[in-house]
Amino acid sequence: MTVSLRCMLGAVFALLLSGCRLPVAMTFAGEPQDPVPDASRQHADAPPAAKSRFMVARQRVRPNEVGVIPILEYHDIRDGRNSMCRSAMAFRRDLERLYRENYRPISLKSYLQNRIDTPPGTTPVILTFDDARESQFRYRPDGSIDPHCAVGILQAFAAKHPDFPVRATFFVLPDVAFGPAAQRARKMQALLDMGCEIGNHTVSHRSLRNLTDAEVQKELAGCVARVKRLAPAAEVDTLALPLGIAPRNRALLASGEHAGQQYTNRAVLLVGAHPAPSPVATDFDPMRLPRIQACEGVAGITYWLDELKRHPERRYVSDGDPMTVTVPNSAVRRVNPGKLKGAHLRTY
Ligand SMILES: [Zn+2]
Repeated sequence: MTVSLRCMLGAVFALLLSGCRLPVAMTFAGEPQDPVPDASRQHADAPPAAKSRFMVARQRVRPNEVGVIPILEYHDIRDGRNSMCRSAMAFRRDLERLYRENYRPISLKSYLQNRIDTPPGTTPVILTFDDARESQFRYRPDGSIDPHCAVGILQAFAAKHPDFPVRATFFVLPDVAFGPAAQRARKMQALLDMGCEIGNHTVSHRSLRNLTDAEVQKELAGCVARVKRLAPAAEVDTLALPLGIAPRNRALLASGEHAGQQYTNRAVLLVGAHPAPSPVATDFDPMRLPRIQACEGVAGITYWLDELKRHPERRYVSDGDPMTVTVPNSAVRRVNPGKLKGAHLRTY
């Protein structure tokens, strides 16, 4: 499937969603804005100091930890006419806009574990990079990181904004990752050292739909084995589907084995085309996580950031405490208590 067709299908899907599903699901849009300092039922057991801290914080930020979280999907960070390219300037502008509009990056891991630790009042954002293209991570001849590649841009931004750390997941094609083969292991380890994650994007990037069960496992296990040879500490347990296409036998996405290499995926990321649910939402399915492509047009990054700016009530708004999940009373029915993973539910 061509990129433009994929983008178009994503756009249609997103329009359907924004036209019907999201507004129905997000029922707390009309909530009154005057904070009422009543202790919630769930909060009744908390010590008085903790209780008052919570009430003060809530009055200021009105947390909504069952709102949506954008997972952004980048490919090439360079000038180019197709939707896989985001210029360095546009990428910097994306980061500036995210920062200005109170998004803060989190790791995919903390999202999957429901341990979101962004400051109170901010919305988490997850940055992902597919294909391990060289424009994502490039060294200059002197061995320093090129300030115009994605990693260089992220580092410079984090240096200027310490509350926007370098957090990203790179879904790699290990045999061609980040350009020169001689630098591959060093780059993978450097990503881990920065606090980034490395995910599976298969070995050959073929559509998994056309492969036998054995071939699917060879692709997924092969990527894990190769990455682990390059960076033994990498936990390769998330997968971005090449072209967004799943194999006929979806069970093979969760786990499998080839040539003595086993693999397990805790999450599977799709290509399009809308923000992802909160990890405690009833519709959260880690094996089908939607992403937003960092391209223009309907269902692209600007479309969705504009949409979430117009409808801030849809956004996940953090209470600042990874061990509690705070939601307005009007949205509590959207929380699946089975997904709290040990966190404490608070309503107001
Ligand atoms: Zn890809």
